[in-house]
Amino acid sequence: MHDFAIQDRQVLSDLASWIADRRSTSSSVRPGRTGALPSVTSGGIGIHATWAAMRDLLLPTAFPTDHPRYLAFVGGAPTPAAIIADAALSAAAVYGGTELEAGDVVAAERQAVRWLCDVVGYPEQSHGVFVSGGSLANLSALVAARHGIESPGGGPPDVIVASGAAHSSIRAAAAIMGCRVVSAGSPDEPLDAETLTEVLDSLDPRDVVAVVANAGATNTGAIDALDEIADCCEVRGIWLHVDAAYGGAALLARSRREQFAGIQRADSVTIDPHKWLFTPFDCAAVLYLDPSVARAAHQQRADYLEVVADDDDNPADYAAHLSRRARGVPVWASLVANGTDAYVDAVETCLATAGYAAKQVEARASLDLVAEPRLSVVLFRRRGWLPVDYARWSAQAHARGTALVTPTRFGGETVLRLCFVNPLTTPADVDLVLDSLEPEAPHTWQPAVRHPSDPGRGR
Ligand SMILES: *Cc1c(COP(=O)(O)O)cnc(C)c1O
Repeated sequence: MHDFAIQDRQVLSDLASWIADRRSTSSSVRPGRTGALPSVTSGGIGIHATWAAMRDLLLPTAFPTDHPRYLAFVGGAPTPAAIIADAALSAAAVYGGTELEAGDVVAAERQAVRWLCDVVGYPEQSHGVFVSGGSLANLSALVAARHGIESPGGGPPDVIVASGAAHSSIRAAAAIMGCRVVSAGSPDEPLDAETLTEVLDSLDPRDVVAVVANAGATNTGAIDALDEIADCCEVRGIWLHVDAAYGGAALLARSRREQFAGIQRADSVTIDPHKWLFTPFDCAAVLYLDPSVARAAHQQRADYLEVVADDDDNPADYAAHLSRRARGVPVWASLVANGTDAYVDAVETCLATAGYAAKQVEARASLDLVAEPRLSVVLFRRRGWLPVDYARWSAQAHARGTALVTPTRFGGETVLRLCFVNPLTTPADVDLVLDSLEPEAPHTWQPAVRHPSDPGRGR
C-alpha cells in the first residue's frame, strides 16, 4: 500500500495533465450531482479506479473557487506555482511545526511572513505564522492579546470590542475564550473613532482584551478608520487587532493603500493568502507587532518536546496549534516564481473588474447600485425582486454551473453581492451574470410574486 507500483505512475502523469488542463475545462462543473461514489471496502479498488472516481465523479460536483464566475463569499484563485508547491509539500511529508524537522522549509515560510509584514508596513522585529484560516488567525491573535493581563476584578479580561461589521469568527473566538463581544458601529458602515470612543468610555479599559477593527469587511469591503482607532487604543493601552483576512491584499494596490493608513500600528493583523493572494486552501497569516507576546501565549511544553531548541524560530509557537502543514511554502514559491509585481497587477485587475461591474450595474435600468463599491465588493439590487427571487436565481445559476453568486443583506435589504478576487474573471463574465438578471433573459424564470409597484425593497 505504501509503494508506487509501475502502473500507478501513470496516474501521476494523468494527474499532472489534469492539473494543467482543468482551467480550460472549468465549464464541466456539475454542482451537487453526486455520481455513485465507490465505497470503502476491505479489499480496496486500487489507485487507478480511485483517481478516476475522484476526477470524474467527486471533484466535478464541487464549484471551484477559481471558476471565473465564482463571485460569492470570498473565492480564491491559486497560481500554478502555488499549486505545484502545495502538491509537493504533501508528497514530501513535511512537518511544519519546528525547525528541527522542517529545516529550510521554515526559512521559506519566514520569507513569506516577512513579505506580508512588509506589505502591512510592520517593523523588522514583527513576525507571524501561517494557520488554517482567518478564524484561527483571529483566535490566535486574541489569545495573545489577553496573555498576561489581569482585569480589576482579578482573572483575565473578558470583553472584546469589535467593529459592527466584524466577521463571525470574532464571535466564535470570543465564545471559545469565554469572552463577550461588545459591538461598535453598524454592520454596513466603517467604524470611526467617535463611535469607538463612546463604546470604550462605557467600559473599564482593563476589562478589554482587544479592539477588533476591519480592513475590508467581508460583506461590504469597508475599511474602518484604522489610524484614529489606533489612537483610541493607544491612549487606553488596549491591544488593536486588525482583521484584514479578505481586504489585506488590497494593500498592494497603490490607489488603495491610503485607506489602510494606521494598519501598521495594530498589535496583530490577519491576512488570508487563500482568499485574495492566490494560494490554495488552507492558508491564513497571523502577524504580530511583538511576536514575543504571541510566543509566550502559545508555545507548548512537554517532556517529549524538550529536544526542540528554545532559541529556534518554530512556527508551532505563534498560534493555537502544534502539528501543522507548512502552508506558507506555496505562498513563498509563488512569490519567488512570479515576483511581487505580478501580485500587484493581479490585485489591481480584480479591483478594475469590480469597478467595471459597478459601472455596468449603474448603466442597467433593472439594477441599482446600493453602495459605492469598496475594495472588490459590489452590492446591488435587482428592481422588483423579493428575497425569494434572488434565492431562486442564485440556485439556478449554481445548479447550471454558470455562476456562483449569492444574495446578502445590506441596510436591512436583500441584495446581490459580487466579490472579485480572481484576476481571470473578465468583463465578459460580469456581462454574462448581469445579462441573466435582465427581465428578458432567456434563462430567467418568472418571479415568484410580481410586485409592479414594489421599488425593489426586499424584506
Ligand atoms: C474570511 C474571513 C475570515 C475567516 O477566515 P477563514 O479563513 O474562513 O477562517 C475572518 N475575517 C474576515 C474579514 C474574513 O473575510
